[in-house]
Order: sequence, then structure tokens, then C-alpha cells
Amino acid sequence: MSSSPRVLVAGLGGTIAMTGDAVGGVTPTLSARDLVGAVPGLDGSADLEVVTFRNQPGAALTIGDLVELSGLLARGFADGVVGAVITQGTDTIEETAYVLGLLHPGDEPIAVTGAMRNPTLAGADGPANLLAAVRVAASPEARGLGCVVVLADEIHAAGRVRKTHTSSVAAFTSPVGGPLGYLSEGRPHVLNRPHRPRALPIPPVGPSPRVGLYTATLGDDGGLLPVLAASLDGLVIAGFGVGHVPASWVPHLAAIARRIPVVLTSRTGAGFTATSTYGYPGAERDLLARGLISGGALDPYKCRLLLQLLLATATSAGEVREAFTGITRAVDRK
Ligand code: ASP
Repeated sequence: MSSSPRVLVAGLGGTIAMTGDAVGGVTPTLSARDLVGAVPGLDGSADLEVVTFRNQPGAALTIGDLVELSGLLARGFADGVVGAVITQGTDTIEETAYVLGLLHPGDEPIAVTGAMRNPTLAGADGPANLLAAVRVAASPEARGLGCVVVLADEIHAAGRVRKTHTSSVAAFTSPVGGPLGYLSEGRPHVLNRPHRPRALPIPPVGPSPRVGLYTATLGDDGGLLPVLAASLDGLVIAGFGVGHVPASWVPHLAAIARRIPVVLTSRTGAGFTATSTYGYPGAERDLLARGLISGGALDPYKCRLLLQLLLATATSAGEVREAFTGITRAVDRK
């Protein structure tokens, strides 16, 4: 029997698994087994259990895929797997990792990785990222971190990480709080630990609530808001600055917030949504007083996912508000 730590590697597709040519473009074709087989030095660092779970571009993944994947991971952890690696398209890693982390109650690390350069290009980064992710997933130092994103030898918390560049191999950053740690000479070093909210229940498979995201832009009169909200169960507003919208939006948002949860966040990409600074119509104080929920330091994309998962399992609007606020406040304190 092997004494190496057991690590589950689940492939979902993405650039890391794409091949093709200049004429037709690259598409996901490689299995998770192919990816593992292409990494020099991977053999021996862990006892790998490899599964091709999906083979899709990042943009094609759904919450349903992640709910199913969370079930697979939970079964693996219950069976003694010490950590998991997910390979997937980088386009949606900042969102999928957040969902996987919210649904994971255990101490086993889940390391999500991918590649910015596909395997047909010079300097493809997939093999190095996969090796680093396996090292993190197998490391006792990463226990308790929850779900992390490992690319370019950096370890990012799922709740903080953003894709902030279209093509750089260092596309992932954590604008609020910075990375949790780094790999050096192949060894993970964790320098700070994120607050982990209590895990949410895995929602039932099936149609999920519909949560929209709408961004404030200069001169938008907000006339589309009631139309959009009519088909939604929840809404996230990515406001200007610390959480501001044009005054003309206020009556619309006040009416919508009486019917469904509306979360107020910032479109800036980093920092906290304010709660008590500005006093004019459409400013954060006004909107929160009219029933909007503060997103704290969570970015609009993650707020949308959190609201969606809460709506899928909470039993009342009050419970959604309380749970949302509890999670984002706890993040603020860390
Ligand atoms: N650009 C993406 C990637 O890095 C494509 C995708 O998300 O599937 O994998």
C-alpha cells in the first residue's frame, strides 16, 4: 500500500486541456489523465486519483456542475483523500472556486488551477500550475484553508481572488488582502489564513434561483431595472465607488428591495462598500436605509453566487439577509 497522500484530481476542461490549430482555434480535448501525464516530477509527490469530470470551456460551467462536483469531492474526502485539485478554464475560476469553498465544510484543501497559455504554445504554464496545485493539495500546511486558487506559484483565497488580466500568466490577484502564500522550490508557504465562513448546505440538484448583476454606469437612468428585476429572485448592484448609483435609480431599487434581496457592492474591483459616509440620494446610506444589503468587501461576482446559494437553501428573506450579512461581516473582520 502506498503511504503517499491521496489527492483527487478532477479535470473540468479549459485552456489547460485545449489543443487545436490556428485555423479552427483550440478547444478542450485533453483528459485529466493526459494533463497529469504531461507533468514532469508529478509522479511520487502524491497518490493521484484522476477523473475527467467535464471537458468544457470555463464559460460553459454551471452551478449545477459545481453542486455535482462538490458531492464527488465530499465522497472522496470521506474516503480518506487528503486534498483535491480542480483543473478548469481560468475565465470562471474566481467564481467556481468561491462556490466550491462555500460548499466545503472540511479541512482538506481544494486547489483550483488552470493555464493562461494552452499546451500548443511556447511556455505553456499548465504543467507548472498543476504540479503546484497538487503540492498544495497534498500539503499539511494547506489544511484548513478551504478552497484556494493556485497559479503562477501563488496561493489565493477563493473569497478574494480575481482574474485581473486577460492574458498574463500572472492574471490572478487578490486585490483585498493579497495572496495567502506562495510556492518556493516546489514547497507551499502559507503566510496568512483567511476567515472561513461556516459551509453552506449543498443545494438540491435542479433549477437554481435566478440572481442578476447590474452595473452602475454614467448617465444610466435605471429604467431597465424594473424590467430586469421582474424575472429575478435576487439582484446584485455593482455601484460606483463605495456603493453609489444615480438618484433616478432610488425609487426602482427601493421597490425591488421590498420584493427580493438586493445586494449593494462596488464596481471598482477592490475595497469595502461603505455603510455610513455619504448622505445624498443614491449614496450607500440612502440605499441601505431602503433595504439593500451591503456586500462588504466581497466583489459583485462572488456576492451574486453567495446570494444564489443562500436563496437555494434558506427558508425566508430574513434568513437570507442574516446569513449574507453574517458571512460578509466575518470576512471583514479578518
Ligand atoms: N481563457 C480560458 C482559460 O484560461 C478559457 C476558459 O476559461 O475555458 O482556460
